Amino acid sequence: MTERQYRIAGAADIGGTNTRVGLVQEDGKIIRMLRFPTPVTGTAGDIPLSIARAIHDIAGDIPLAGLGIAAAGPLDIRAGILDHPPNIPFDTVPIVVPLMEETHLPVIFRNDCRAAVLGEVCAGGASGYDTVVYITISTGIGGGVFTHGRVLTGRGGNAGEIGHFPVDSTYTFPCTCGLSGHWEGFASGRGIPVFFKEWCIAHNLPCTMTIASDILQLSITDPVYSGFLDALAQINGRGLSAVIVAYDPDCIILDGTVIQSHPDLLDQALLYTDRYLDLPDCKLSLLHGDAPLIGAAMAVFHPEMI
Ligand SMILES: [Zn+2]
Repeated sequence: MTERQYRIAGAADIGGTNTRVGLVQEDGKIIRMLRFPTPVTGTAGDIPLSIARAIHDIAGDIPLAGLGIAAAGPLDIRAGILDHPPNIPFDTVPIVVPLMEETHLPVIFRNDCRAAVLGEVCAGGASGYDTVVYITISTGIGGGVFTHGRVLTGRGGNAGEIGHFPVDSTYTFPCTCGLSGHWEGFASGRGIPVFFKEWCIAHNLPCTMTIASDILQLSITDPVYSGFLDALAQINGRGLSAVIVAYDPDCIILDGTVIQSHPDLLDQALLYTDRYLDLPDCKLSLLHGDAPLIGAAMAVFHPEMI
């Protein structure tokens, strides 16, 4: 079957550093993709404009069913804007209206993790499950929840911000959101170095590492620091326990650079995950980091699901 026999959607995944734009078939296959630095020096309007130009460049004469846009939150899906994004230096970024005006296509805009769970359900490892939670453990920690045929969105599209689940009350250092005790503050790529520094102080050990992957490697190879791996496993176990009792999923998909490069973190976390409810199937994403982009396109084909 050739690609032209499928419907095709344009999709974009807006990150703090890079924006990825692609053409995605109805079966979830990405047929074209390009990546460029997210514009952060001009005006907020440069962001939707750069996406419209990229879509125009890669689509040419290919008819598109619509545009699906994913971005790290917080966002306001009713207004179609990014609302005070922490990683982009603009207060608000209008997305939906400028993209509709530039491309004359229907535009659907969702949080990247909410898009990603749809990508996993439609074209990834969560196919066939009733209730699915997608968890990314990367620079931050985020989640998307799918249940009974729909993605849970909440008031403004921010339901499933599991990175801000409280998981500890013994340390007082702040999470990236400014509050303390949150999962993301301890176990994300940005949080691990902060947690490690505080853990070393509490255990009277020298702290020379500042990068998450170096710290995890040290904790694996040096028995003096192996206790940190156990402390991190307890934090991740509490996070997973909260996810399981909050949503009662039959499948959890884990993704993101931290967990994908250290899959043992999942097995260690499961040792500390409560069994109040039965453990769901827990597995790593096989979509190579493309779940948000694929899911944004799936939102165009299945608007009733998101
Ligand atoms: Zn937080």
